[in-house]
Amino acid sequence: MKKMFKAAISLVLALTLVVGCSAVGFAADDSCDCGKTPVIFVNGIGGVILSADENGNEFSIFPIENDAMISTILTYLPPAIINGIFGGWDSFAVSLDKMVTELFIGMDCDNEGNSVLPAYADDCDAVTVDEHMGDNEFDFLYDWRLDPYVSAAKLDAYIDEIIEVTGHDKVIINAYSEGGEIALAYFDEYGSEKVEMFISQCSAFQGLTLIGKLFTNQCSVDANQLYNFLMTMLPVVNVDQGVLDLLTVLKYTGIYNILSNLVNKILDECFDEIYAGFATDVFACMPGVFNFVPAEYYDDAVEMVFGDDPQYAELVKKIDKYHNAQVNAEEILKEAQANGMAVAFVSHYGIAPMPLVGDVCYQTDGLIDSANSSGGATFAPMDAPFDASYKQAVADGHNHVSPDGAVDASTCMFPENTWFVAGFSHWNYSTNLIDWLVAYDGQPTINDNAEFPQFLVGDTVENTVSAW
Ligand SMILES: [Zn+2]
Ligand SMILES: [Zn+2]
Repeated sequence: MKKMFKAAISLVLALTLVVGCSAVGFAADDSCDCGKTPVIFVNGIGGVILSADENGNEFSIFPIENDAMISTILTYLPPAIINGIFGGWDSFAVSLDKMVTELFIGMDCDNEGNSVLPAYADDCDAVTVDEHMGDNEFDFLYDWRLDPYVSAAKLDAYIDEIIEVTGHDKVIINAYSEGGEIALAYFDEYGSEKVEMFISQCSAFQGLTLIGKLFTNQCSVDANQLYNFLMTMLPVVNVDQGVLDLLTVLKYTGIYNILSNLVNKILDECFDEIYAGFATDVFACMPGVFNFVPAEYYDDAVEMVFGDDPQYAELVKKIDKYHNAQVNAEEILKEAQANGMAVAFVSHYGIAPMPLVGDVCYQTDGLIDSANSSGGATFAPMDAPFDASYKQAVADGHNHVSPDGAVDASTCMFPENTWFVAGFSHWNYSTNLIDWLVAYDGQPTINDNAEFPQFLVGDTVENTVSAW
């Protein structure tokens, strides 16, 4: 294990040197006066992670290469089903566990949260003047399993390289999903001196309830919420009305009850095995994933997953560090804003939570709680908007309640700098809003542009937004 870790560190060092040396070669002598601050796009979970075998042949450990996935599923799934039918739930769970372990084996992290296989993310965009003069967006890729502070260190080096090559003294960070976690770790560790604006889109910087429930053994499926999720998620991905009508008809057949009962039965009967094999072994040792646990679930999740087991002491120390940043996010970001960094939050809402969190129907973007991605807005439940008698929680002299009665933005960390898009999922993109933010000089607010007030409606075909 130690050797593997050393090999991984050496590889990272070697790559850093290579990248660092090429940067010197292209360094600009003078500052650039093009007026376009370089933008770094910090993507979310799911970027390509590579490894190499002893002969130097590169292979992908995520996404799992198709052949490997198919052969593993074909090897383990039929016996799992047969065991499920004839051998009872225990055998089913054991087979399922074997399949999952085999599928994700290349992705394992050790008890300290480091990759077991030497691993590295796919290349970031090359830092060149051409890229800056072109679309000016530098894609930052990282191993999303790792400690957000490891990724933040890599981001800091990437920022330095961009500053050096482009001749600008600051960058814009446009962070999406897990990218928000990496950005917050970055501000916590390195401050905001080199950042002109932080754009946070559907960001996981405050975690998500789904992961909190997963790591505290509280997942369950509710028939109504299964239906609500499908009916609110599918229109966003532009599914035909006919399909939605069919799903409504199916509601009266009781199919959602049957499905939810089946899944709950599996969760009840096999949860310990699934939990040990999948949730804990595979994902809990990835600090980048464990740090999606929201603050209110954190202590219970740590207790439940790691207990007092000393072999996880280092890992718990790592995840504690981000947890503290998550709790202190408002302070960290307000200090950055006071020091001249602009902030802009974009939060999507209008979709019921994934049907694994029981009988609750709070607002999400299909993955992340909208209350979390907005930095603390107050949301009405999906099915019960605020009524006419609703009083805005913080009376700051302007209206922060949305026209559809779903959002009260007055409780946000940044009520004047947070935009809400109704009917956009986690996977939509507010192209025109982001373009405007990126080009804005200074701290944009919800009152600066009649096209982009606080409350917006998303066009899921064009991926643009407009005022209500
Ligand atoms: Zn320039
Ligand atoms: Zn206000």
